[in-house]
Amino acid sequence: MIRRATLSLNEATGEKKVAIDLLIQQYLIFLQKVINTLWNHKLFFGTFVPKKWYKEIKSSLTERYKQCAAKQALAIVKSQRKREKKTKPIIHNASIELDSRFVTIEQGKNSFDLWIKLAVLGGEPIYIPAKWHYHFNKFFNNSDWTPKKSCRLRRTDKGLFLDIFFEKEAEQIKEAGGAVGLDLGFRKLAVLSDGQIVGKELNKEEITRLYNRKNSHLVISELINRELKKIDFNNIKTLVVEDLKNVKKGKGRKAKPGKRFSRYANRLLAHWAYHRALTKLEMLCEENRVQIAGVNPGGTSKACNKCGSKGIRRDERFVCPTCGNKDDADHNAACNIRDRFISQGVYGPLPENHLDVPSG
Ligand SMILES: [Zn+2]
Repeated sequence: MIRRATLSLNEATGEKKVAIDLLIQQYLIFLQKVINTLWNHKLFFGTFVPKKWYKEIKSSLTERYKQCAAKQALAIVKSQRKREKKTKPIIHNASIELDSRFVTIEQGKNSFDLWIKLAVLGGEPIYIPAKWHYHFNKFFNNSDWTPKKSCRLRRTDKGLFLDIFFEKEAEQIKEAGGAVGLDLGFRKLAVLSDGQIVGKELNKEEITRLYNRKNSHLVISELINRELKKIDFNNIKTLVVEDLKNVKKGKGRKAKPGKRFSRYANRLLAHWAYHRALTKLEMLCEENRVQIAGVNPGGTSKACNKCGSKGIRRDERFVCPTCGNKDDADHNAACNIRDRFISQGVYGPLPENHLDVPSG
């Protein structure tokens, strides 16, 4: 498994910040030009870019940096192709991928805890002080985790940051525990078939206010991370979630599959927030040695978990006119999610694409 820790570079002096900015600026210009070349010549293969494709591009970057940017350009066009997008990728984020030839982290002796050594445009390294923090310490100087060779230098409206990646071998899925279904929503972020509920109950006004905030993405992401961490995985062997990865946002030519998403849209859990929550759940499962499985989402909120008939959903309550079952609507859905997994009988390690379900 791979985890990210971010260091702020905002303690750097003004002069150093200018040097970093200049590097990022020149790098991005070069990166976009290489992307244009690769795209125009349909070069979407290989693992590195032969120099002949970029040697004509004028830039003040060193040869090493050019090589590095060319590699990033190739990765970007390849990923664009993979997603079957027809348009040339345009760089929007100031984010550059570097490896240990350009960046190293050293432990400091004085007031600042760490020094980041970064090669800038002239080729000479500069030293930038950075502070330790809890999340970084969890991985750094921890023999379980190995730092990856590549890192990411970013500029945002909050300043300059360095993302460092740490790697650890995934542990075996545990033997104890059962299958538990999980229903994601927003009023209650997650309801589990074993009765656990995490995420504050929000009303419609609160949700609307949350989404209208200027930094709503950050606030909602934080909320998702903080709340999902509260799930107790002790008695869970397999966590079953609805797989919405293949469900498109309901617009354009393929609007039909989007219908399935309407349930989430109604509950104001935006498409991106759902994916954020799912990614966080995948990480938590990995850390707790729990298997994660995805099932087809169709109809899990409508069927009665006791008898399978179509029930009636009234706000947060579910009532079955056939057998008289009454339940919390999200809990009923979570039980259906769990049972769909059990009836499919796919216990044991799932293939890598286990979250892909056939559409329709
Ligand atoms: Zn029923």
